[in-house]
Amino acid sequence: MPETPQQFHARALAATDGQRRLTFGEIPYWEVFPFEAEGLRVKPLEDLTLPEPPRHGEGGVDCSACAHAADPAADEVWRNERWRVVLQGPGGSPLMLRAQPLAHHDLAELPDDLAAEMGVLLVHLTRAMEALPQVGRVHVARWGDGGAHLHLFVYARPKGMMQLRGTMMAVWDDFLPPVPVEVRDADARTVIRSLTLSLGGRALGVAAG
Ligand SMILES: [Zn+2]
Repeated sequence: MPETPQQFHARALAATDGQRRLTFGEIPYWEVFPFEAEGLRVKPLEDLTLPEPPRHGEGGVDCSACAHAADPAADEVWRNERWRVVLQGPGGSPLMLRAQPLAHHDLAELPDDLAAEMGVLLVHLTRAMEALPQVGRVHVARWGDGGAHLHLFVYARPKGMMQLRGTMMAVWDDFLPPVPVEVRDADARTVIRSLTLSLGGRALGVAAG
């Protein structure tokens, strides 16, 4: 039998100290942990929030992604009949893009035909981005805690910077100096040209021309 939210929370709380703080365990000693352990501590565990508050665009109501279903937003760099790719940043990652369906779905409700297309799009996008000379690996992330309209972050780790491996790359993206806009835009053009050749669709915004 699965735990209830209350049982799960109570078990976590039982593992905390008198200030509701969990211990770090091994994490500060991970090679990829970006902070020095000295002085660092885990935040106190908060109470449950049930029901959870609605996310942006829940149920497609006032959804900013749906608002651009017909007219591409200024930061869109590619779309086909059912998907779009949006340019992020610039941040510390060499390139971060966001892929999402034009129609309002979250991951668990994505119809099978769109789910299959999502897989193909992510593979082609990853291949195009990993062909950039300064990219060591491309990560794909779906969190979805802020917005209800499915959006997948596809972002690059700089080649050779092994300290930036894995999950902490999302954090390093905020520490590293932002990539110059003209460099980011030129890389986006290169990636979208490659995507358009391999998968069709059309280049938009800074990726067009
Ligand atoms: Zn939507």
